[in-house]
Amino acid sequence: VWKNLLPSSSLSSSSNTSIIPFEESEESPNSQAALWDYSNDDQDKIEDIFQRLSTPLYPEIPSYSSMNMTYRKQLEKDTLAKNGKIYNDFMSTPIIEPKVDYLIRPDDELAGSANATILSLVTNNDLKELLPSIQQLEEKFNKKFGYPYVFLNDGEFSEEFKDTIINMLPNGRVVKFGQIEKEDWDMPDTIDRERYKIECEKMDKLKVSYVKKESYHNMCRFYSRKFYHHPLLQEYKYTWRLEPGTSLYCDVDYDVFKFMEMENKVYGYVLNLYDGANSIPTLWETTMEFVKKNPNYLNPNGAFDWLKENAQKPENFETAKGYSTCHFWTNFEITNLDFLRSEAYEKYMDHLENSNGFYYERWGDAPVRSIALALFLDKSRIHWFRDIAYNHNPYTNCPKCPEGSMRCDGRCKPGLFTMWKDLNIENCQATWIDKIMSDEEKNLY
Ligand code: GDP
Ligand code: MN
Repeated sequence: VWKNLLPSSSLSSSSNTSIIPFEESEESPNSQAALWDYSNDDQDKIEDIFQRLSTPLYPEIPSYSSMNMTYRKQLEKDTLAKNGKIYNDFMSTPIIEPKVDYLIRPDDELAGSANATILSLVTNNDLKELLPSIQQLEEKFNKKFGYPYVFLNDGEFSEEFKDTIINMLPNGRVVKFGQIEKEDWDMPDTIDRERYKIECEKMDKLKVSYVKKESYHNMCRFYSRKFYHHPLLQEYKYTWRLEPGTSLYCDVDYDVFKFMEMENKVYGYVLNLYDGANSIPTLWETTMEFVKKNPNYLNPNGAFDWLKENAQKPENFETAKGYSTCHFWTNFEITNLDFLRSEAYEKYMDHLENSNGFYYERWGDAPVRSIALALFLDKSRIHWFRDIAYNHNPYTNCPKCPEGSMRCDGRCKPGLFTMWKDLNIENCQATWIDKIMSDEEKNLY
């Protein structure tokens, strides 16, 4: 019954329209068709999806507020033991790289040929923290493939910033510096400043991080819904997002962008966590409003179980009103921008924008992006780059290497998610491994 719609290779960056279909059916290659077209016969399927989206993954677990303290403690202990074991067992397998038919090596003719760029949103003040991140990305990956860089800023980049970056990169590396339009960055006029202030004070008392920084709200909104329309990114299909202060610990000896392209992946991540639920109290219900109006965007093979997990942080599930808060940590993300430029994603963003949660709450780009990916995409098109050893404090993805391998530089400890033991509960990866990954994916490395 389900037509497996092929991704369109014709959706090139030369397209001038801002909203383009992400996937098209073979029958009507040029239609603005939704990802999945439900005929009336498929009503059951839709109802089945809504059933899953309204039911906790573990329905036997009571709501957080109705649990007594003993139950809470026991549940936490049991869940951490179970999920910790899933994660540790998985991470204890030595891996090198994905075992696919074809990886593009540095000496391959196709090396560096993907339509891709490294992207970094920063200010002049980030230079010192940014340089080592660029240096490591070059050393471990990009000196072999030569992908360009795009730096974006809401303000103006100083000559010092630009010169320093250009001078540290090899000759000939394409580097572009761009400024963001005020209307794509600033708080829109539709936001009532008085109410914004009151809501932020309330969230601040609930310890929502960065909630009193207006620029952080702007950043989250920009990275959710505007960055992929920036003129400097128009020509690109893939981005690798790079943040200051991040580290890479292992060599990547194949072209990851070509991997994305050849394996038909839409999104690559390395870390997957719970969010601060008080930053998104109405994001889930706002999302459900949207999909009820637009059920045809839902993908029957979405990563629903991951969105509905309610055992490890039942307090989050309750505060977020039915959403686990599991999300891909977007400070590292490799993205096929065609997905973000698709009708489903764009309309979803308009809906979120109109509900004002980027300001009256502090919706992060990470939960926003993750929910869209988990609802609209076949889960097999989301790839965990287990082989990319990455740190953004306080979390690390550190693979175990085979005996004698020189791929990793020894600066991370295999399988160690965080140095702070009490933060292990923030790791959502076990649910991804257990409930989302197919056997084929588990054996890909
Ligand atoms: P965290 O990772 O959630 O702690 O947030 P960061 O402070 O690292 O911000 C996320 C990304 O947005 C980083 O790449 C920052 O450099 C960038 N960023 C955050 N705020 C601003 C801002 O006001 N202006 C610009 N140009 N970039 C920002
Ligand atoms: Mn950061």
